Amino acid sequence: MYELICRDGLARRGRMTTVHGVIETPVFMNVGTVGAIKGAVSTEDLENIGTQVELSNTYHLHVRTGDRLIKEMGGLHRFMSWNKPILTDSGGFQVFSLAGLRKIKEEGVSFQSHIDGHKIFMGPEESMQIQSNLGSTIAMAFDECAPYPSTREYMMNSVNRTTRWLVRSMNEMTRLNALEDTINREQLLFGINQGGVFEDIRIDHAKRISELDLPGYAIGGLAVGESHEQMYGILDVTVPHLPQDKPIYLMGVGTPANILESVERGVDFFDCVYPTRNGRHGHAYTAFGKLNLLNAKYEKDDRPIEEGCGCPACKRYSRAYVRHLLKAKEMLGLRLMVLHNLYYYNNLMADIRKAIEEGRYSEFKKETLAGFEAGNE
Ligand SMILES: [Zn+2]
Repeated sequence: MYELICRDGLARRGRMTTVHGVIETPVFMNVGTVGAIKGAVSTEDLENIGTQVELSNTYHLHVRTGDRLIKEMGGLHRFMSWNKPILTDSGGFQVFSLAGLRKIKEEGVSFQSHIDGHKIFMGPEESMQIQSNLGSTIAMAFDECAPYPSTREYMMNSVNRTTRWLVRSMNEMTRLNALEDTINREQLLFGINQGGVFEDIRIDHAKRISELDLPGYAIGGLAVGESHEQMYGILDVTVPHLPQDKPIYLMGVGTPANILESVERGVDFFDCVYPTRNGRHGHAYTAFGKLNLLNAKYEKDDRPIEEGCGCPACKRYSRAYVRHLLKAKEMLGLRLMVLHNLYYYNNLMADIRKAIEEGRYSEFKKETLAGFEAGNE
């Protein structure tokens, strides 16, 4: 399923084959929280900007509209008219970060919906059932993303429970994939490494979950408040202990610079809300760094957001016009910004893949980072 095409240092150029098509890695997954990318971006748009994988949130789809309805409508692929791979998160992160008044027990977590306050219980089995109803290509195991900072003792207990939850997630998915009316009977499960910034807990956990021989592994619980250096340090010690013949996914990371550094440490999958969220706030990612289109200096700037960019915004519209739309709070302004940013990220990953194939990754990384620093618009 995962084929390692070539390596350049620790950076990996790979290919993952799924029932919904092939994923060329390293890849950036585009985050569509409730089955849509915020900013009025359609699945047709995603096809046009080179999106390979769409990521949706289990928790959000469960509390609003509901996974049972989506199953009735033929699953998330059919519901949102997207036939390429979809990854669903386990809901764990949202349960621990968004939901009110929660109680963690061995069975799972009781919490209140952030929409209407009603009580919900979610454990590994419930999370797998919801993801199975959605019929995503890749499902994530139910885990606890422990708060930062956590004490060593808290982290040990949390990671041990996450390991037990992983085994329960596996067993439940095996059961669900064997049922006749399951939408995607070839749904894949990724396990998640946790351990915060404790190197020995991370390593020990990586070794334990590697034995389960899952189709892929994620590193969770980073980019939650620790420094970039701490995050890179954790990747340096953890990645070598995960199976090298499986894809490795760094959850919720990050800036273009974070991605460049993490690819160099052997990471294959990424996702982050930055391109969409920052786009909606007027921030555009470019080869010369981030620019804020709300700045007055772009008021009469006739150039596209980024010269030479092939995205739907840059091919046709000026900075001045996009700025005007943002100022006027027109939906089109948000849409153009998000399209540009996602195109930028998708295109960055294509450049990364090419650089690895050509054996010049570290050079490419240095040049790209220098471009951000120089800031020559
Ligand atoms: Zn553009």
